[in-house]
Amino acid sequence: MTDLHADVVVIGAGPAGLHAAFYAAWRGLQVRLLDARGEPGGQLSALYPDKRVYDVPGLPAVPAAEVVAGLVRQLDGLKVQLHLHTLAQGLERTGEGWQVQTQTPEGQRTFTAPAVILAPGLGALLPREARVAGEHADVHTDLPEPGSLRGRRVLVVGGVPQATRAALELAEAGAQVTLTHRRAGFRGRPAELAALAAAQAAGTLAVLAPAALTHLSPGAAHLTVNGEPQTLPADTVLVLNGYLPDLSPALGWPLDWQGEYVPDGPGGATALPGVFVAGDVAQSGGDFKLISVGLAQAAVAANHAVHHVRPDLKVRPGHSSEKRLS
Ligand SMILES: Cc1cc2nc3c(=O)[nH]c(=O)nc-3n(C[C@H](O)[C@H](O)[C@H](O)COP(=O)(O)OP(=O)(O)OC[C@H]3O[C@@H](n4cnc5c(N)ncnc54)[C@H](O)[C@@H]3O)c2cc1C
Repeated sequence: MTDLHADVVVIGAGPAGLHAAFYAAWRGLQVRLLDARGEPGGQLSALYPDKRVYDVPGLPAVPAAEVVAGLVRQLDGLKVQLHLHTLAQGLERTGEGWQVQTQTPEGQRTFTAPAVILAPGLGALLPREARVAGEHADVHTDLPEPGSLRGRRVLVVGGVPQATRAALELAEAGAQVTLTHRRAGFRGRPAELAALAAAQAAGTLAVLAPAALTHLSPGAAHLTVNGEPQTLPADTVLVLNGYLPDLSPALGWPLDWQGEYVPDGPGGATALPGVFVAGDVAQSGGDFKLISVGLAQAAVAANHAVHHVRPDLKVRPGHSSEKRLS
């Protein structure tokens, strides 16, 4: 596969990475934004999309998913290519720039750029392992492309927002879905919970909760419901237990790591020339692991990255209110 080039590669599409991508692209550069997950938003999308955040400037009491939606919408019309399911595993010097080796579902891909912005937060948010007894040929810990499960009997196991969303998307795509969880309640945004109730009432989706999944066998799932054993035919089983952060792919990069932090100098500079850092992983933020702090660091790092790539462009971006996109 040929290398994918850009002016700036941003690793991590959480709030810091999204805002860094915005700023670099808004200054006119071409950006590739990589994330290990299947959707942007980092911790906000993976861990608490349904919870309201109160301390993002200008967006009082807004669900985390809406903060992400706004950050993504801000990329409209800019030269930002989002590469999801792309886990950065290697960072190496190449000529004047950098090479980022990644793992994708299609195999290994290499990205090259004169500047890299690191925004991996707490680490790649990878799905928790499915720990279920028994054997089944088709068990997933993340949502596959919903259309690929059309017509199949799918059991979705989990109470996290990701499970609610997966059940709705699969039912919409034409799968026969049963959503189950060991507790009676499910998490999700109010609109998603309303859609779940409506789909259940309309019979387009079944809900079985509280129920405990005891084991799997070929083509079936075995549960306990109200103390009674129950068997469901299941062609596919999704065990969705949320995500765990994994920084290990990046810990071998020569960034002078201080525990889980990368030391950041003025302008978000790291020990490596042309490699900048922002967000939770940047040491200067310390205990202030906050969206607002990450956004500010991203603006600073991205503008320094822009100047690094294009010395003819000033570090200072000027005021957006006095500019128009060309
Ligand atoms: C439950 C909870 C509630 C919170 N509430 C608030 C709040 O109310 N207000 C607030 O300001 N903050 C809150 N925070 C903190 C806030 O979510 C973080 O500060 C913020 O998400 C950090 O953004 P980030 O972009 O640095 O990293 P992250 O959001 O962690 O995003 C990093 C992204 O990089 C990806 N990534 C990592 N490594 C790799 C790799 N090697 N290859 C490819 N991709 C990679 C990850 O998959 C992830 O998507 C909360 C956090 C939690 C857990």
